[in-house]
Amino acid sequence: MENCLFCRIVAGEIPATVVHRTETTVAFRDIDPKAPTHVLVIPVAHHADVVALAADPAAAADVLAAAAAVAEQEGLTGGFRLIFNTGPHAGQEVFHVHAHVLGGEPLGPMLAGK
Ligand code: 5GP
Ligand code: ZN
Repeated sequence: MENCLFCRIVAGEIPATVVHRTETTVAFRDIDPKAPTHVLVIPVAHHADVVALAADPAAAADVLAAAAAVAEQEGLTGGFRLIFNTGPHAGQEVFHVHAHVLGGEPLGPMLAGK
C-alpha cells in the first residue's frame, strides 16, 4: 500500500534493523524502544489492524509464530509481553498491524498506573 510506513519498510525503501524475516512476516527493532527488547512483528501483507488481520487466519498465525521465534531468538527466557495497539483508545499510531514484542526486564503493571 502506497504511503504506508511499514509497507515501505517491507519493501526496503525505509531502513530498519530487521531481526527476523519469513516469506510472510518481517520483524524489526522499534525506533523508540520501551524495553531492552522491543521488536515489531508485521505481516508482509497490509492489514490496518489486528481486527483486519484476524480475517486472514494464515497471516495471523504467521505473525504469532514469528513473534514466538523473535522471543526465543532474543533470549526472553523471563517472559515477554505481546501487544497489538488497536484504535484511538490504545494509541495506535501506525495503521499496518504490528505486534510489539517487549521484554528483557520485568515490565511492571500491564497498564500505566494500574
Ligand atoms: P503503535 O502506537 O501504532 O502501536 O506503535 C507504532 C510503533 O512504531 C511505535 O512504538 C514507534 O516507536 C514505532 N515506529 C514509528 N516509526 C518507526 C520507524 O520509522 N521505524 C521503526 N523501526 N519503528 C517506528
Ligand atoms: Zn502497510
